[in-house]
Formats: sequence, structure tokens, C-alpha cells
Amino acid sequence: MKLKTGIGIDVHRLEIGLDLWIGGIKIKSNKGCVAHSDGDVLLHAICDALLGAAGLPDIGHHFPDTSQEYKGIDSKVLLKKTVALIEAKGFAVSNIDCVVCLQQPKLKDYIYDIKSCIAEIANISVEDVSVKATTTELLGFEGREEGVSAYATTLLYKL
Ligand SMILES: [Zn+2]
Repeated sequence: MKLKTGIGIDVHRLEIGLDLWIGGIKIKSNKGCVAHSDGDVLLHAICDALLGAAGLPDIGHHFPDTSQEYKGIDSKVLLKKTVALIEAKGFAVSNIDCVVCLQQPKLKDYIYDIKSCIAEIANISVEDVSVKATTTELLGFEGREEGVSAYATTLLYKL
């Protein structure tokens, strides 16, 4: 069986008064991501991990932030399109592992919903999706609540 791994990272700036979407779920927060799309930092990192593993160009190539088509778009749609792209190349997802770095709010109560959302779109079971959330101990831009970052890795196999 042919296996391929991929890695993706994404960062967005946080601003007061915007919606915060992480992993396809709306998070209760006074700050949200500044972005051309809905700014879902986690789904963007996952898209890049999947695309990278399949040997495809990155998320910005497929869904340019200069395109009106993607303005304000639900990133679940982008992930769905990404999964279709890797499936068209004959790959299926084995697992996805990721980390979100965010000072606050705590994501603990959202983790199961986030994992379910990602699993459904990626056509895998919830057990094959891992989502961790960490603060950066008040250090860096995440610690100062200026932004949020996400890291994702994935394993694909050729059908
Ligand atoms: Zn992004």
C-alpha cells in the first residue's frame, strides 16, 4: 500500500467583533479571525496537509484569497473540495492529527464537535481525527491574543 504524509500550518490575526471558526465549529469568543474566507485556521492547516500529502499545490493555489468566489466562504466547503481533489488522485485519508495554539477561550468543550465535523468531511471515523488545543503560556502572538495558529499532519493511502 502506498502511504503519503503531509504537513500544514496556518496563522490568522485576531480582531475584536469577528466570528471565531475553528474546525468548522463557531467558538464563543469576543475575537475572531481576520481573513478573506471565514478564517478557519484549523481547516486551512488540514487542507494544506492533505494537499501536501497528495503532492498537490497549496490551499492558496486552489482557493486564492483574491477571488470573489471565496470571499467569506465557509471553510468546510474548502475542506470538502480538498478531499475531492485528493480522492480524484486516488488517495483516501488514514488519519489527521492537529494542534491549535490559542490563548483563549479554552477549546476543551468543542473538541468532540470539531473532530466529528472534520471526520465527516474527510470520510473517516472520529477516532481517526485528533485535535489538541494548547496555549503558548502567554508567549508570542498567540499568547498576546493577537492571533491563532494551527498545525496539522495527515497520512494518506492510495486506494
Ligand atoms: Zn487560513
